[in-house]
Amino acid sequence: MSESAIPFCDPIACGTAGCDAVVCIGKGVPSNDTLFERTTRAIPGGVNSSIRAFKAVGGRPYVVARGQGAHVYDVEGRRYIDLVQSYGAVILGHAHPAITRALNAAAVDGTSFGAPTPREMKLAEAISERVPSCERVRLMNSGTEATSTVVRLARGLTGRKKIIIFDGNFHGATDALLAAGGSGVATLGLPGTAGVPEEAVANTIVAPYNVVPDIDDTIAAVIVEPVAANMGVVAPAPGFLEGLRAACDRAGALLVFDEVITGFRLGLGGAQERFGVRPDLTCFGKVIGGGLPIGAVGGRRDVMETLSPIGKVFHAGTLAGNPMATAAGLAALSQLTPDVYVEIERRAARLARIIGDAMGGGTTVTRVGTLVGVHLGEKLSGRSPSNFDEAKTTDEPSYARLFHALLANGVALAPGAYEALFVGLGHDDAVMDDLAERFVAAARSIATPD
Ligand SMILES: *Cc1c(COP(=O)(O)O)cnc(C)c1O
Repeated sequence: MSESAIPFCDPIACGTAGCDAVVCIGKGVPSNDTLFERTTRAIPGGVNSSIRAFKAVGGRPYVVARGQGAHVYDVEGRRYIDLVQSYGAVILGHAHPAITRALNAAAVDGTSFGAPTPREMKLAEAISERVPSCERVRLMNSGTEATSTVVRLARGLTGRKKIIIFDGNFHGATDALLAAGGSGVATLGLPGTAGVPEEAVANTIVAPYNVVPDIDDTIAAVIVEPVAANMGVVAPAPGFLEGLRAACDRAGALLVFDEVITGFRLGLGGAQERFGVRPDLTCFGKVIGGGLPIGAVGGRRDVMETLSPIGKVFHAGTLAGNPMATAAGLAALSQLTPDVYVEIERRAARLARIIGDAMGGGTTVTRVGTLVGVHLGEKLSGRSPSNFDEAKTTDEPSYARLFHALLANGVALAPGAYEALFVGLGHDDAVMDDLAERFVAAARSIATPD
């Protein structure tokens, strides 16, 4: 059989009404392994985002055919309770009817024009209404584009070059922010990956999370995850965000909150509302696209109007403010009422209890509102980590064992020990009851290896 004759599953053939087995076109059901193997011959490492690879946990990824609510189905028809939810981009659950309807309606009107459209106006307004610091909003295509745009904007506005970021925070795949820190003190960044020249991070300072660094008048911006959600989940220490605000004000530096995860995940007003600190600029992504590619920068009017075409800092994007992405984003935001966050927070609290009860001692579960993180190993002895040095004490081999035990029991976590766990509108009580049983079974299988 030639390679192209390997049958593949067409999710459309499955229909929208929740079939249990994936319907495949061609002969028989392909295995995850066959499909992934074939993918690796077309795509480096078989993934389009290296974070999705199973490098950290071993083995090969399940290949997703479709999702429904809290669940994803792989191409073999196996169902998993999904705690990845597209790394937090999906909050209503997979294939939520509001999103599907909005996308169907938008698609027939055309998918991209290169001219202003009503939905981009509405989405920008919807963000501004809910996040008061965002007097103006520029839409773009990814969180990475948002963070790279704020770096240029801050430098262009202040005429300063230096940017302060925090060890263990993640701001996407953009050179200036792909800097590795030293240990314990603020240091000049080292290239965080091959391909980033020293020059690209020569003006990036990496400071330990949860300590207000020295901020002087050479600093253009301080960029921070107001709740760190890419080193497990690490809460801001009391006074940390307020301290950054005050120090930035004294130095004339911009305070930027990277709310790509926390925006519309912690609540309608994001982390800035929860902690009562108003940044100059905010980066968004993930939830605001309802599962489609999106990013946004919002902020003070005078700062935002430094962007072209009004101001001198260039920004452009062929697909920016895309009709499909804004349709999905608006549909997502239309469902997200304050009550919904109360409910998701209740589910997150339950998830934290489920993990704690199943795993027992040696596991630290952290939670900030709707965000849940898990840190394995005795080193923290139950204490919540407050920075990357502490978060890094996570026992990665234990995580890999837990990951695979859960996968075998029909629960999907992200294949990395530092990712947050996501629940949303799809994870109703029945799903959470089911999850509790599967967690206990997985924990037991690791405790008594066969
Ligand atoms: C995911 C993420 C990004 C990058 O967003 P992409 O859409 O993946 O480019 C930036 N910052 C934070 C905090 C993120 O979690």
